[in-house]
Amino acid sequence: MPDNQSTGALDDLIGCLKAAVAPFRATLQELHAKYRDVADGKVADYIPELALADPKWFGISVVTVDGQAFDVGDCQQLLSIQSVSKPFVFGMALEDHGREVVLKKVGVEPTGEAFNAIVLDEKSNRPFNPLVNAGAIATADLIPGKDFAERIKRLMATFSGYAGRDVYVDNAIFMSERSTGHRNRAIAHLMLNFGMVSEKVEESLELYFQQCSILVNAHDLAVMGASLANAGVNPITKQRALEREYVKDVLSVMLTCGMYDYAGEWAYRVGLPAKSGVGGGICAVVPGRCGIGIFSPLLDARGNSVRGIKVCEELSDRFGLHAFELGFDGERIEDQFYLRKK
Ligand code: GLU
Repeated sequence: MPDNQSTGALDDLIGCLKAAVAPFRATLQELHAKYRDVADGKVADYIPELALADPKWFGISVVTVDGQAFDVGDCQQLLSIQSVSKPFVFGMALEDHGREVVLKKVGVEPTGEAFNAIVLDEKSNRPFNPLVNAGAIATADLIPGKDFAERIKRLMATFSGYAGRDVYVDNAIFMSERSTGHRNRAIAHLMLNFGMVSEKVEESLELYFQQCSILVNAHDLAVMGASLANAGVNPITKQRALEREYVKDVLSVMLTCGMYDYAGEWAYRVGLPAKSGVGGGICAVVPGRCGIGIFSPLLDARGNSVRGIKVCEELSDRFGLHAFELGFDGERIEDQFYLRKK
Protein backbone atom coordinates (compact mmCIF):
# COMPACT_ATOMS: atom_id res chain seq x y z
CA MET A 1 0.00 0.00 0.00
CA PRO A 2 1.46 3.46 -0.91
CA ASP A 3 2.41 5.58 2.08
CA ASN A 4 -0.20 8.28 1.53
CA GLN A 5 -2.96 5.65 1.38
CA SER A 6 -1.90 4.03 4.66
CA THR A 7 -1.66 7.45 6.34
CA GLY A 8 -5.17 8.24 5.13
CA ALA A 9 -6.52 4.98 6.53
CA LEU A 10 -4.76 5.65 9.81
CA ASP A 11 -6.22 9.15 9.98
CA ASP A 12 -9.68 7.72 9.35
CA LEU A 13 -9.18 5.21 12.11
CA ILE A 14 -7.96 7.89 14.54
CA GLY A 15 -10.95 10.05 13.57
CA CYS A 16 -13.34 7.17 14.28
CA LEU A 17 -11.70 6.48 17.61
CA LYS A 18 -11.85 10.13 18.63
CA ALA A 19 -15.52 10.30 17.73
CA ALA A 20 -16.16 7.11 19.66
CA VAL A 21 -14.52 8.36 22.86
CA ALA A 22 -15.84 11.92 22.74
CA PRO A 23 -19.24 11.13 24.28
CA PHE A 24 -17.64 9.83 27.45
CA ARG A 25 -15.42 12.90 27.82
CA ALA A 26 -18.54 15.01 27.31
CA THR A 27 -20.23 13.07 30.12
CA LEU A 28 -17.35 13.78 32.47
CA GLN A 29 -17.45 17.45 31.48
CA GLU A 30 -21.17 17.47 32.22
CA LEU A 31 -20.60 15.97 35.69
CA HIS A 32 -17.78 18.41 36.36
CA ALA A 33 -20.01 21.36 35.44
CA LYS A 34 -22.88 19.93 37.48
CA TYR A 35 -20.91 19.55 40.70
CA ARG A 36 -18.16 22.17 40.55
CA ASP A 37 -20.25 24.73 42.43
CA VAL A 38 -21.15 22.36 45.24
CA ALA A 39 -19.55 24.10 48.21
CA ASP A 40 -20.64 21.77 51.03
CA GLY A 41 -17.99 20.41 53.35
CA LYS A 42 -14.65 21.85 54.33
CA VAL A 43 -10.99 21.26 53.61
CA ALA A 44 -8.98 19.27 56.16
CA ASP A 45 -7.18 21.52 58.63
CA TYR A 46 -5.48 19.18 61.10
CA ILE A 47 -2.20 20.32 59.58
CA PRO A 48 -1.63 23.80 58.07
CA GLU A 49 -0.55 22.51 54.64
CA LEU A 50 -3.92 20.85 53.96
CA ALA A 51 -5.82 23.95 55.08
CA LEU A 52 -4.17 25.81 52.18
CA ALA A 53 -6.07 23.71 49.61
CA ASP A 54 -8.25 25.74 47.24
CA PRO A 55 -11.86 24.54 47.68
CA LYS A 56 -12.38 25.14 43.95
CA TRP A 57 -9.91 22.43 42.87
CA PHE A 58 -11.83 19.70 41.10
CA GLY A 59 -10.46 17.07 38.76
CA ILE A 60 -12.12 13.93 37.37
CA SER A 61 -10.03 11.35 35.55
CA VAL A 62 -10.93 7.97 34.12
CA VAL A 63 -8.25 5.64 32.71
CA THR A 64 -9.36 2.45 31.00
CA VAL A 65 -7.57 -0.90 31.06
CA ASP A 66 -6.68 -0.38 27.40
CA GLY A 67 -4.88 2.84 28.30
CA GLN A 68 -7.36 5.52 27.26
CA ALA A 69 -7.37 8.55 29.57
CA PHE A 70 -10.21 11.00 30.06
CA ASP A 71 -9.11 13.98 32.18
CA VAL A 72 -11.50 16.80 32.99
CA GLY A 73 -10.82 19.80 35.25
CA ASP A 74 -7.82 20.08 37.60
CA CYS A 75 -6.33 16.67 36.89
CA GLN A 76 -2.72 17.87 37.16
CA GLN A 77 -3.17 19.58 40.53
CA LEU A 78 -1.08 17.73 43.11
CA LEU A 79 -2.53 16.57 46.42
CA SER A 80 -1.14 14.47 49.25
CA ILE A 81 -2.34 10.92 48.79
CA GLN A 82 -3.00 10.41 52.53
CA SER A 83 -5.18 7.37 53.23
CA VAL A 84 -5.58 6.49 49.55
CA SER A 85 -2.08 5.04 49.95
CA LYS A 86 -3.23 2.36 52.38
CA PRO A 87 -4.57 -0.38 50.07
CA PHE A 88 -1.44 -0.14 47.91
CA VAL A 89 0.81 -0.74 50.91
CA PHE A 90 -1.40 -3.68 51.93
CA GLY A 91 -0.77 -5.11 48.44
CA MET A 92 2.95 -4.59 48.87
CA ALA A 93 2.90 -6.44 52.22
CA LEU A 94 1.09 -9.37 50.59
CA GLU A 95 3.65 -9.54 47.81
CA ASP A 96 6.57 -9.38 50.22
CA HIS A 97 5.29 -11.77 52.89
CA GLY A 98 2.31 -13.72 51.57
CA ARG A 99 -1.22 -13.94 52.97
CA GLU A 100 -0.48 -16.09 55.99
CA VAL A 101 2.08 -13.72 57.52
CA VAL A 102 0.16 -10.55 56.69
CA LEU A 103 -3.16 -11.83 58.06
CA LYS A 104 -1.48 -12.59 61.39
CA LYS A 105 -0.74 -8.87 61.70
CA VAL A 106 -3.89 -7.31 60.27
CA GLY A 107 -7.50 -8.42 59.79
CA VAL A 108 -9.90 -7.74 56.93
CA GLU A 109 -12.92 -6.81 58.99
CA PRO A 110 -14.71 -3.48 58.59
CA THR A 111 -14.94 -1.45 61.77
CA GLY A 112 -17.58 0.96 62.92
CA GLU A 113 -14.85 2.87 64.74
CA ALA A 114 -13.15 6.03 63.48
CA PHE A 115 -10.23 5.49 61.09
CA ASN A 116 -7.79 6.70 63.75
CA ALA A 117 -9.33 4.84 66.71
CA ILE A 118 -6.90 3.45 69.25
CA VAL A 119 -8.44 0.03 69.14
CA LEU A 120 -7.45 -3.53 68.23
CA ASP A 121 -9.48 -6.69 67.81
CA GLU A 122 -9.88 -8.00 71.37
CA LYS A 123 -9.49 -11.67 70.45
CA SER A 124 -6.56 -11.51 68.06
CA ASN A 125 -4.97 -8.17 69.07
CA ARG A 126 -4.80 -7.38 65.38
CA PRO A 127 -5.88 -4.08 63.90
CA PHE A 128 -9.25 -4.60 62.22
CA ASN A 129 -8.20 -3.95 58.64
CA PRO A 130 -5.35 -2.39 56.63
CA LEU A 131 -7.32 0.75 55.74
CA VAL A 132 -7.67 2.15 59.26
CA ASN A 133 -4.57 3.82 60.70
CA ALA A 134 -3.68 0.92 62.99
CA GLY A 135 -3.76 -1.55 60.10
CA ALA A 136 -1.92 0.82 57.80
CA ILE A 137 0.89 1.27 60.33
CA ALA A 138 1.07 -2.52 60.75
CA THR A 139 1.42 -2.98 56.97
CA ALA A 140 3.99 -0.16 56.76
CA ASP A 141 5.92 -2.07 59.41
CA LEU A 142 6.06 -5.02 57.00
CA ILE A 143 7.89 -3.03 54.29
CA PRO A 144 11.16 -4.96 53.98
CA GLY A 145 14.69 -3.61 53.84
CA LYS A 146 17.88 -3.60 55.89
CA ASP A 147 17.53 0.07 56.77
CA PHE A 148 15.23 3.06 56.32
CA ALA A 149 16.78 3.98 52.96
CA GLU A 150 16.05 0.56 51.51
CA ARG A 151 12.52 0.52 52.89
CA ILE A 152 11.58 3.98 51.62
CA LYS A 153 13.03 3.05 48.23
CA ARG A 154 10.71 0.03 48.08
CA LEU A 155 7.76 2.22 49.11
CA MET A 156 8.42 4.92 46.53
CA ALA A 157 9.13 2.39 43.76
CA THR A 158 5.75 0.80 44.40
CA PHE A 159 3.83 4.06 44.15
CA SER A 160 5.85 5.16 41.12
CA GLY A 161 5.00 1.83 39.48
CA TYR A 162 1.29 2.31 40.08
CA ALA A 163 1.32 5.93 38.91
CA GLY A 164 3.60 5.25 35.94
CA ARG A 165 5.90 8.13 36.84
CA ASP A 166 8.33 8.98 39.63
CA VAL A 167 6.35 10.28 42.60
CA TYR A 168 7.74 12.32 45.49
CA VAL A 169 6.97 13.13 49.10
CA ASP A 170 5.93 16.67 50.04
CA ASN A 171 8.42 17.47 52.76
CA ALA A 172 6.33 20.14 54.52
CA ILE A 173 3.36 17.79 54.74
CA PHE A 174 5.58 14.98 55.96
CA MET A 175 7.10 17.18 58.69
CA SER A 176 3.63 18.25 59.82
CA GLU A 177 2.30 14.69 59.80
CA ARG A 178 5.29 13.65 61.85
CA SER A 179 5.14 16.48 64.37
CA THR A 180 1.37 16.13 64.97
CA GLY A 181 1.17 12.34 64.70
CA HIS A 182 0.90 11.57 68.43
CA ARG A 183 -2.23 9.52 68.03
CA ASN A 184 -0.61 7.37 65.36
CA ARG A 185 2.36 6.92 67.68
CA ALA A 186 0.01 5.82 70.45
CA ILE A 187 -1.61 3.29 68.11
CA ALA A 188 1.79 2.01 67.00
CA HIS A 189 3.01 1.55 70.56
CA LEU A 190 -0.17 -0.23 71.56
CA MET A 191 0.50 -2.63 68.68
CA LEU A 192 4.11 -3.00 69.80
CA ASN A 193 2.80 -4.01 73.21
CA PHE A 194 0.84 -6.83 71.56
CA GLY A 195 3.63 -7.86 69.21
CA MET A 196 1.72 -6.75 66.12
CA VAL A 197 4.57 -4.53 64.93
CA SER A 198 8.33 -4.97 65.14
CA GLU A 199 10.86 -3.13 67.30
CA LYS A 200 11.48 -0.91 64.26
CA VAL A 201 8.21 0.81 65.07
CA GLU A 202 9.60 4.37 65.05
CA GLU A 203 11.08 3.82 61.61
CA SER A 204 7.82 2.29 60.41
CA LEU A 205 5.91 5.33 61.66
CA GLU A 206 8.28 7.50 59.61
CA LEU A 207 7.45 5.34 56.59
CA TYR A 208 3.74 5.70 57.30
CA PHE A 209 4.02 9.51 57.52
CA GLN A 210 6.02 9.50 54.30
CA GLN A 211 3.48 7.36 52.46
CA CYS A 212 0.65 9.72 53.47
CA SER A 213 2.66 12.69 52.14
CA ILE A 214 3.26 11.37 48.62
CA LEU A 215 2.04 13.82 46.01
CA VAL A 216 -0.26 12.56 43.26
CA ASN A 217 -2.94 14.12 41.06
CA ALA A 218 -6.37 12.93 39.94
CA HIS A 219 -4.90 11.42 36.77
CA ASP A 220 -2.36 9.44 38.82
CA LEU A 221 -5.17 8.15 41.03
CA ALA A 222 -7.04 6.96 37.94
CA VAL A 223 -3.92 5.21 36.58
CA MET A 224 -3.39 3.56 39.97
CA GLY A 225 -7.01 2.41 40.00
CA ALA A 226 -6.70 1.24 36.40
CA SER A 227 -3.64 -0.83 37.36
CA LEU A 228 -5.78 -2.69 39.89
CA ALA A 229 -8.64 -2.90 37.35
CA ASN A 230 -6.15 -4.41 34.90
CA ALA A 231 -5.19 -7.38 37.13
CA GLY A 232 -2.20 -5.54 38.58
CA VAL A 233 -0.59 -4.27 35.36
CA ASN A 234 -0.29 -0.52 34.78
CA PRO A 235 -2.18 -0.06 31.47
CA ILE A 236 -0.03 2.91 30.42
CA THR A 237 3.47 1.59 31.13
CA LYS A 238 2.46 -2.10 30.80
CA GLN A 239 4.60 -2.78 33.89
CA ARG A 240 3.26 -4.98 36.65
CA ALA A 241 2.47 -2.98 39.80
CA LEU A 242 1.02 -5.84 41.88
CA GLU A 243 1.09 -9.61 41.56
CA ARG A 244 -2.13 -10.77 40.01
CA GLU A 245 -3.04 -13.13 42.84
CA TYR A 246 -3.23 -10.29 45.38
CA VAL A 247 -5.37 -7.89 43.37
CA LYS A 248 -8.57 -9.42 44.74
CA ASP A 249 -7.29 -9.11 48.32
CA VAL A 250 -6.73 -5.39 47.84
CA LEU A 251 -10.03 -4.81 46.04
CA SER A 252 -12.01 -6.72 48.68
CA VAL A 253 -10.84 -4.51 51.54
CA MET A 254 -11.37 -1.42 49.40
CA LEU A 255 -14.97 -2.47 48.79
CA THR A 256 -15.72 -3.17 52.45
CA CYS A 257 -13.49 -0.66 54.29
CA GLY A 258 -12.35 2.04 51.87
CA MET A 259 -14.61 4.99 52.55
CA TYR A 260 -14.30 5.62 56.30
CA ASP A 261 -17.66 5.37 58.09
CA TYR A 262 -19.49 5.58 54.79
CA ALA A 263 -18.08 2.26 53.59
CA GLY A 264 -21.34 0.28 53.90
CA GLU A 265 -23.44 2.96 52.29
CA TRP A 266 -20.82 3.33 49.54
CA ALA A 267 -20.79 -0.41 48.82
CA TYR A 268 -24.57 -0.32 48.63
CA ARG A 269 -24.94 2.77 46.49
CA VAL A 270 -21.79 2.81 44.34
CA GLY A 271 -20.67 -0.80 44.62
CA LEU A 272 -17.05 -0.23 43.62
CA PRO A 273 -13.79 -0.89 45.46
CA ALA A 274 -12.44 2.55 46.38
CA LYS A 275 -10.33 4.47 48.86
CA SER A 276 -10.54 8.09 49.90
CA GLY A 277 -8.15 10.30 51.82
CA VAL A 278 -8.35 13.56 53.74
CA GLY A 279 -6.33 15.29 51.01
CA GLY A 280 -9.56 15.12 48.98
CA GLY A 281 -8.63 12.25 46.69
CA ILE A 282 -10.67 9.20 45.76
CA CYS A 283 -9.40 6.23 43.78
CA ALA A 284 -12.14 3.87 42.58
CA VAL A 285 -11.80 0.69 40.54
CA VAL A 286 -14.13 -0.87 38.00
CA PRO A 287 -12.49 -4.32 37.73
CA GLY A 288 -11.61 -5.29 34.19
CA ARG A 289 -12.64 -1.87 32.91
CA CYS A 290 -11.13 1.29 34.37
CA GLY A 291 -9.82 3.33 37.27
CA ILE A 292 -11.49 6.53 38.43
CA GLY A 293 -9.47 9.29 40.12
CA ILE A 294 -11.11 12.31 41.65
CA PHE A 295 -9.68 15.26 43.49
CA SER A 296 -11.78 17.84 45.29
CA PRO A 297 -10.61 18.87 48.77
CA LEU A 298 -13.98 19.76 50.32
CA LEU A 299 -14.67 16.90 52.74
CA ASP A 300 -17.86 15.76 54.42
CA ALA A 301 -18.00 15.01 58.14
CA ARG A 302 -16.67 11.48 57.55
CA GLY A 303 -13.60 12.69 55.64
CA ASN A 304 -14.74 11.83 52.10
CA SER A 305 -14.58 14.29 49.19
CA VAL A 306 -18.11 15.69 48.81
CA ARG A 307 -17.94 16.19 45.05
CA GLY A 308 -15.99 12.95 44.64
CA ILE A 309 -18.82 10.95 46.21
CA LYS A 310 -21.41 12.65 44.02
CA VAL A 311 -19.46 11.98 40.82
CA CYS A 312 -18.89 8.32 41.69
CA GLU A 313 -22.51 7.79 42.64
CA GLU A 314 -23.67 9.27 39.37
CA LEU A 315 -21.12 7.41 37.23
CA SER A 316 -22.03 4.12 38.87
CA ASP A 317 -25.73 4.75 38.41
CA ARG A 318 -25.57 6.02 34.83
CA PHE A 319 -23.27 3.35 33.52
CA GLY A 320 -24.35 0.40 35.65
CA LEU A 321 -20.91 0.05 37.26
CA HIS A 322 -22.06 -1.42 40.59
CA ALA A 323 -20.16 -4.66 41.28
CA PHE A 324 -23.36 -6.64 41.46
CA GLU A 325 -24.82 -5.15 38.33
CA LEU A 326 -21.74 -5.61 36.15
CA GLY A 327 -21.40 -8.96 34.50
CA PHE A 328 -25.10 -9.83 34.26
CA ASP A 329 -25.10 -9.01 30.57
CA GLY A 330 -21.40 -9.30 29.78
CA GLU A 331 -21.28 -5.86 28.22
CA ARG A 332 -17.95 -4.48 27.08
CA ILE A 333 -16.61 -1.26 28.51
CA GLU A 334 -17.52 0.51 25.29
CA ASP A 335 -21.13 -0.57 25.77
CA GLN A 336 -21.03 0.58 29.36
CA PHE A 337 -19.57 3.93 28.57
CA TYR A 338 -21.12 4.83 25.27
CA LEU A 339 -24.42 3.07 24.88
CA ARG A 340 -25.90 2.48 28.28
CA LYS A 341 -26.56 6.05 29.26
CA LYS A 342 -30.00 6.64 30.64
N1 GLU B 1 -2.16 11.19 57.63
C1 GLU B 1 -3.44 10.93 58.15
C2 GLU B 1 -3.39 10.23 59.48
O1 GLU B 1 -2.64 9.31 59.63
C3 GLU B 1 -4.24 10.12 57.16
C4 GLU B 1 -5.54 10.72 57.12
C5 GLU B 1 -6.47 10.10 56.11
O2 GLU B 1 -6.38 10.39 54.92
O3 GLU B 1 -7.34 9.34 56.56
O4 GLU B 1 -4.10 10.56 60.38
